[in-house]
Amino acid sequence: MTEHFRTPRFAPAERLAQIAISASAAMTDKASELKAQGHRIISLSSGEPDFPTPLHVVEAAHQAMLAGDTKYPPQTGKPALLKSIQAKFLRDNGLDYALNEILTGNGGKQLIFDALLAGCNPGDEVLVPAPGWITYADIVHLAGAVPVRIDCPERLGFRLDPEALEAAITPRTRWLILNFPNNPTGAMCSEEDLHAIAQIALRHPGLWILTDDIYEHLIYEGTFKTIAQVEPALKARTITINGLSKAYAMTGWRVGYAAGPAEAIAAMNTVQLQATGGICTAAQAAAVAALDGPQEYLAERREIYRARRDLVVSALRGIEGVRCNVPDGAFYVFPNIEALIGRTTAAGTVIRSDADFVLALMAEAQISSVQGSAYGMEGYFRISYAADTEVLREAMDRLARFCDGLR
Ligand code: PLP
Repeated sequence: MTEHFRTPRFAPAERLAQIAISASAAMTDKASELKAQGHRIISLSSGEPDFPTPLHVVEAAHQAMLAGDTKYPPQTGKPALLKSIQAKFLRDNGLDYALNEILTGNGGKQLIFDALLAGCNPGDEVLVPAPGWITYADIVHLAGAVPVRIDCPERLGFRLDPEALEAAITPRTRWLILNFPNNPTGAMCSEEDLHAIAQIALRHPGLWILTDDIYEHLIYEGTFKTIAQVEPALKARTITINGLSKAYAMTGWRVGYAAGPAEAIAAMNTVQLQATGGICTAAQAAAVAALDGPQEYLAERREIYRARRDLVVSALRGIEGVRCNVPDGAFYVFPNIEALIGRTTAAGTVIRSDADFVLALMAEAQISSVQGSAYGMEGYFRISYAADTEVLREAMDRLARFCDGLR
């Protein structure tokens, strides 16, 4: 009888079965929880700049709200922001887009979601370089499509090997995702690499490219190029995604944008329309100020990140059992810790995997980081060096002590 009155249990839809809980968010939440309990946690798990949003950007949002800019925005974005994005593509990437070829969304993530939901049929294959941001594979699953990994091994500097790309293409391949500078490795694609990738794409006319250029302004060697710029013939089947989170330290404002052929952008907007329908007006005003305002501080911050990268890489290279290449971009390092698997920590925990390693590092050295397996490559871990130099020094000392204590 009581059976009848019991609240029915929620049964998640089958499409959620393959969706992973973001390991980086889980580690960051765990770090916050431990901090709140009074532990001196150093959080290096979140992919978030430690710099504040520039004041002139905050001020623009404030003024927009005071002026009554608080009503529903046009779905694709306010004309002022679409024009700022149009100008940005021309200025930084030499790409000329019409306003109906641009869409704004709540962060780059939403635009990736829009593109894959709008552009995948069940069973379509989507090529995802690995290691890579786990979100791509998760969204591919949500779209009913199949993520296909392309290995970008450490011995190739985690770069995308054109031969491996060619080998992964099948008659079912619909999309190739590019993300260089890469999360989690910081690897770049040179213009030469992009040229080779483009030649392969040109031989497969049904292949669309989604390039996530969110780390464009965070590169330490060479200059940034994006695929539609390197091979203009691909512009007609490339969606270029970017956003303000990383370069302008605006993670909380949730502004991202995409550019591509008008029909593809319209289809993406159809998806977005039923999800959120446009982005916060104050955030749009802030984004205009960021994109149209002074850009010099991007280079200044980049040099600060470079010094942090050098500090972290040199500390890691001094630790026995850790191997670390020098990333060319983003604000992550992805050290190899295979030699430490199988060892036991000072507190007696046996490290059987990279996940065990990061958990023990959190418990015994109070550092939060993310296991490489969360990005599709075991035997590594990701450290975000978007943190103050003193904090990074302390973290590297703790890490060295933790690793020295392994038996
Ligand atoms: N793309 C990559 C590779 C990222 O690492 C992230 C954030 O971590 C994003 C996109 C999402 O950025 P946004 O804040 O614009 O959604």
